[in-house]
Amino acid sequence: MKRLAIMGSTGSIGTQALEVVSANPDRFEVEVLSANRNSELLIEQARKYNPNAVVIADESKYKEVKDALQSLPIKVFTGEQSLAEVTQWDTVDTVLGAIVGFAGLHSTLAAIEAGKTIALANKETLVVAGELVMRKAAEKKVAIIPVDSEHSAIFQCLVGENPDAIEKVILTASGGPFLGRKPNYLVNVKASHALQHPNWSMGAKISIDSATLMNKGLEMIEAKWLFGLTNEQVDVVVHPQSVIHSMVQFIDGSVKSQMGLPDMRLPIQYALAFPHRIPNNYKRLEFKDYPKLTFEVADYKTFRNLAIAKEAMIRGGNAPCVLNAANEVVVNAFLQNKVGFLEMSDMIEKTLEKVTFITSPEAEDYMKSDAEAREYAAEFVKKSQLSIY
Ligand code: NAD
Ligand code: MG
Repeated sequence: MKRLAIMGSTGSIGTQALEVVSANPDRFEVEVLSANRNSELLIEQARKYNPNAVVIADESKYKEVKDALQSLPIKVFTGEQSLAEVTQWDTVDTVLGAIVGFAGLHSTLAAIEAGKTIALANKETLVVAGELVMRKAAEKKVAIIPVDSEHSAIFQCLVGENPDAIEKVILTASGGPFLGRKPNYLVNVKASHALQHPNWSMGAKISIDSATLMNKGLEMIEAKWLFGLTNEQVDVVVHPQSVIHSMVQFIDGSVKSQMGLPDMRLPIQYALAFPHRIPNNYKRLEFKDYPKLTFEVADYKTFRNLAIAKEAMIRGGNAPCVLNAANEVVVNAFLQNKVGFLEMSDMIEKTLEKVTFITSPEAEDYMKSDAEAREYAAEFVKKSQLSIY
């Protein structure tokens, strides 16, 4: 029996993780559930899964959750510090990091500090502070098992292999809803349009990141840290069918891939059950349904976020942290129709130019760089054509 703390249980990954738990009541038990401000769903989940504790990050929602769960033996907490503390309880075995954005860093670091196994969906944690996170995980002998489908694929390809035998990893990208489009089209796209992903149904932020290809840029940085790779060892190929979830090329030229239907419950289940592979009855991949698997080079010129992210990865230091913070701000603004699709890249690039570069950041530097970047990016958002009219 594994006892889980599901951080971000009301999100796309969180709710799918709970489906995996429901299907495997003999393997998983929910110890902690947490949400930002979706109190209604958190209460419903608490009633169903009967955790030891829930955390509602938004303090204004605390009373509502507390009152609703009053008659049940469930502890209710609020605030960012509580999010970190519950991950450290003795009764927690595995922490699923499914909070979106920089907000997930603090609780993941706390869980590592306490020696918990980490199933990590929150890629921003590794983008912002990959060096620190992997260093702490090594110190504490903590396993970080990726939930992101590409990284789960790579992880699965590497089981039984010597990491020194990796020549490179190749992340597959669906290309998102605007594959093949050019700037003259992209200039006018709106959030509602960008949210329509062809192959995956996900939270709002990652859906926009998929449309701009920032998601693939973040994933390059995530892969670098997770698998201890050099910048040159991380490659991307566009594969619109999303059936090959990623590949590893070895020093003898052999390439392994992991395949399956695009269903996040698979990598979630794999990460939670690791080192076991457990059965399910989800729909199977039928090769006859995919007579053609295609591959193409990513369009770094049109989808500039991919190029900007790659540059930040190569630059290192606090550059990926700044990239991430600026991206979170502009994506949020784009979701509210306050900035245009193409403007997002300009604003991220300008923020990277503004924030002081730090070669070897420590924990406090990440906090400062994140805050500084958010301020600059917010200024750029205010000056956007769309905000003015
Ligand atoms: P989502 O927006 O659907 O859910 C986010 C969850 O985090 C919610 O439960 C929300 O309440 C919580 N949260 C948000 N801000 C918070 C804060 N400040 N403090 C505490 N909790 C907060 O997002 P998602 O799509 O489930 O993605 C979660 C993470 O997993 C992201 O980092 C994303 O990149 C990654 N990921 C998602 C998918 C997917 O298919 N959705 C795939 C791969 C990776
Ligand atoms: Mg992914």
